[in-house]
Amino acid sequence: MKAVLMYGAGDVRVEEVPDPSLQEPTDALVRVLRSCICGSDLWPYRSMPRSEQAQRMGHEFLGVIEDVGSDVSGLKVGDVVVAPFVWADNTCDFCSEGLQTSCRHGGMWARDGVDGGQGEAVRVPQAQGTLVKLPVGEDSDLLPSLLTLSDVLCTGHHCAVKAGAGPRTTVTVIGDGAVGLSAVLAAKRLGAERIVLMGRHKDRTDLGREFGATDVVVERGAEGIERVRELTGGDGTHTVLECVGLKEAIETAFGVVRDGGVVSRVGAPQYPDVPMDFGVFMRNVTLTGGVAPARAYIDELLPDVLDGKIQPGRVFDQTVTLDEVPGGYRAMAERRALKVMVQS
Ligand SMILES: [Zn+2]
Repeated sequence: MKAVLMYGAGDVRVEEVPDPSLQEPTDALVRVLRSCICGSDLWPYRSMPRSEQAQRMGHEFLGVIEDVGSDVSGLKVGDVVVAPFVWADNTCDFCSEGLQTSCRHGGMWARDGVDGGQGEAVRVPQAQGTLVKLPVGEDSDLLPSLLTLSDVLCTGHHCAVKAGAGPRTTVTVIGDGAVGLSAVLAAKRLGAERIVLMGRHKDRTDLGREFGATDVVVERGAEGIERVRELTGGDGTHTVLECVGLKEAIETAFGVVRDGGVVSRVGAPQYPDVPMDFGVFMRNVTLTGGVAPARAYIDELLPDVLDGKIQPGRVFDQTVTLDEVPGGYRAMAERRALKVMVQS
């Protein structure tokens, strides 16, 4: 089959790899219908050292079950399923606590002999715990929005949940990428009424307004902090959802959070230190967030996607075939595309 391989920064290729097949009785084989390129795929796209040992790519996908192992129940050939961005048994103590990202028997896609989502098919380990059956057909118009359950919607939701965003909290969202916009959608869905979106790309912040942002701040750094404080009577917001992962973004987060408030981060941190200095200490600011256990949220979010109450698939503004994926990486890296969907 064909799959996406990264050989180094800027070097993404689509090549033949061995066809996947069941290896364990807990596996399932999924033919991929839709996958996508993640903002986090851009970190290696910018910095991965050149290697002959290419890295398989992709951790967001949905597809059709083509084969199931003998220990898998509740799933059958022909089911349309979505995969969270880590695989997990969904039964161990961490999974039972809703922390499937720490599963004792789980792991990452595209690592250690497991297929990536950017390919024609995937062998899914721990299929019963990992996959969620979707009550739709292969040609459903809802596939783009359902695909966001793999990662980006659940990540935005996790950020908002960890922050405690709700009817009584004001919210700042830092970042107008697909995760930031999903965080806006999630905060709105949880009842937040005042949502300040910090971002500079008008087409993206326009979508953010449609998702529920009440204010847009285009300034960055000290100016951006000043602007958010002006909008909130000088105080800042109760919650700050940091959806970028760069040092400037986390610094901005501490600048715009209200005393006693919460900074929640889901942008994969590209910095070693968090600036929680004496000043932050004196203001009783909490830092939370981290990798999103998407599997823990899918059951809650799925009904709202199915009945069209939320349309998170609007973050996809470009669709490519598997062969066109290298161009999709370029488009996202050059910010010509917000988020690229891959249609097999
Ligand atoms: Zn587990």
